[in-house]
Amino acid sequence: MISEALTTIRQRIADTARQYNRFPESVQLLAVSKTRSIADIVTAIEQGQTRFGESYLQEAIPKIETLRDKLLEWHFIGPLQSNKTRIIAEQFDWLHSLCQLKHAQRLNAQRPEHLSPLNVCIQVNISEEAQKSGIHLNDLATLAQAIAELPRLRLRGLMTLPAPSQKFEQQRIPFRRMRIALQELQASGLILDTLSMGMTNDMEAAIAEGATLVRIGTGIFGERLNRQKQ
Ligand SMILES: *Cc1c(COP(=O)(O)O)cnc(C)c1O
Repeated sequence: MISEALTTIRQRIADTARQYNRFPESVQLLAVSKTRSIADIVTAIEQGQTRFGESYLQEAIPKIETLRDKLLEWHFIGPLQSNKTRIIAEQFDWLHSLCQLKHAQRLNAQRPEHLSPLNVCIQVNISEEAQKSGIHLNDLATLAQAIAELPRLRLRGLMTLPAPSQKFEQQRIPFRRMRIALQELQASGLILDTLSMGMTNDMEAAIAEGATLVRIGTGIFGERLNRQKQ
């Protein structure tokens, strides 16, 4: 099941990229493995998947430790709190949900010397929903410039999780605003290469608007059973 689903998702990514005149390799696949077992992750690894996204540290750390000898990339995509920064700085390769300078400063101080700088994306609350984390576009440039100064972080780009919508053209609107925001930061001199956007239900719209990394859970591993853990 997982291996067939992975093949299907890879095909969807490649087809959509070509449809919008993009190279299929320009869109990376992050397998969102939150709530999934180590056995499920191993199945995906056997199909060549190397990037995994986790939202809950308590379940992520045993997975990372168990799979330490595989050459994997671990991405933290869940909400960030001050008391989590140290473990993220020590255990992860990427963080997608950075949206406060004080968290960036802690991560910068806590990133171990023997590791390369932590790759980070700034999470943007593009639909300006009260319950969602992420900064508003108005505050983005100032935060991005400040984070880019921190030597133990490497600012790679932007991440978003827009308000859900079922219509393709509607889905494209927030993703387009994200692409423009990234281009404005690039024009101001920042070297950025990542737009982390698109999930199982809106990945085509995200790719159409320039996503360089899509975060796919359900489309690879099936419905999440633990419904409160979404
Ligand atoms: C769970 C989650 C995903 C994956 O969503 P699916 O709909 O299962 O593909 C992507 N991004 C974030 C931030 C998530 O929390």
